[in-house]
Amino acid sequence: MSAPGFTGAGLDRADHLRLDAERLADMMANGDARLLRLAELDPVLDEEGRLAWGPLEGEQDCLFLGLDEGAPLFAPLVRTGMLGQRAWSVFRILAMMSPKDAAIWGAARSVNEWHNRHLFCGICGAATAIFRAGWGRKCPGCGAEHFPRVDPVVIMLAEHEGRVLLGRQPQYPAGRYSALAGFVEPGESVEEAVARELMEEAGLVVGDVRYVASQPWPFPGSLMIACIGRAESDVLRLDPTELEDGFWATRDEVLAALAGDSAARFLAPPPLAIANTLLTRWSEGG
Ligand SMILES: [Zn+2]
Repeated sequence: MSAPGFTGAGLDRADHLRLDAERLADMMANGDARLLRLAELDPVLDEEGRLAWGPLEGEQDCLFLGLDEGAPLFAPLVRTGMLGQRAWSVFRILAMMSPKDAAIWGAARSVNEWHNRHLFCGICGAATAIFRAGWGRKCPGCGAEHFPRVDPVVIMLAEHEGRVLLGRQPQYPAGRYSALAGFVEPGESVEEAVARELMEEAGLVVGDVRYVASQPWPFPGSLMIACIGRAESDVLRLDPTELEDGFWATRDEVLAALAGDSAARFLAPPPLAIANTLLTRWSEGG
């Protein structure tokens, strides 16, 4: 079964070491310790197409990613002016990377972006400082502890009599269609968010929402929660502010798109996107 993109890092995150200053210092001095190389927030690859790592050289501000078969891995924490920007070029690099490397880089990217957005305390406004080996910031003014946030997003297929709803946003590459998606709001369950989004974006009433899979999405820090909801009818009322087009795809149409068939009715979402996993699982009858 295909694993969603940005999963499978396989590191021992060793949370119990994050507050242990002595053991952290030992690990940073360890000859096996490695520091991820980044270009701003983008991945840097070596000649073999793997993530590039270097030695630690007295860095103060770094993120302890975890232990990889005992070797401590760190990522630099960098100030960047690239916040919220997602150059499409990064997907060309990601397409060359192994799932494990993409997952490790994704975590480093998300935490870096979070630090850049939380330089000041949201409660008292004082400048915050890194703690927990990069997995938090602490405010010296009021003592508040801030932790990297993850924003839940539902991404879903509405299903009706053997077909699924796909939609297209204006900024997508030509021909691409994907699952509909939206942020979970405070006070909602995943199932309620799926039902609301399908009503808002497509005018559909759905019941029987089922969970399929999830993935971290590092632009900047979402958790994509993939679901399928059964629609009571196939009459669409698309919201033109969200979608420029939408249609019900048959299983054969989905299979052709996933196979990259040049005659396919639409261009499938890229393999790293969980929409691709969701369509694959649905097409396999999952
Ligand atoms: Zn504060």
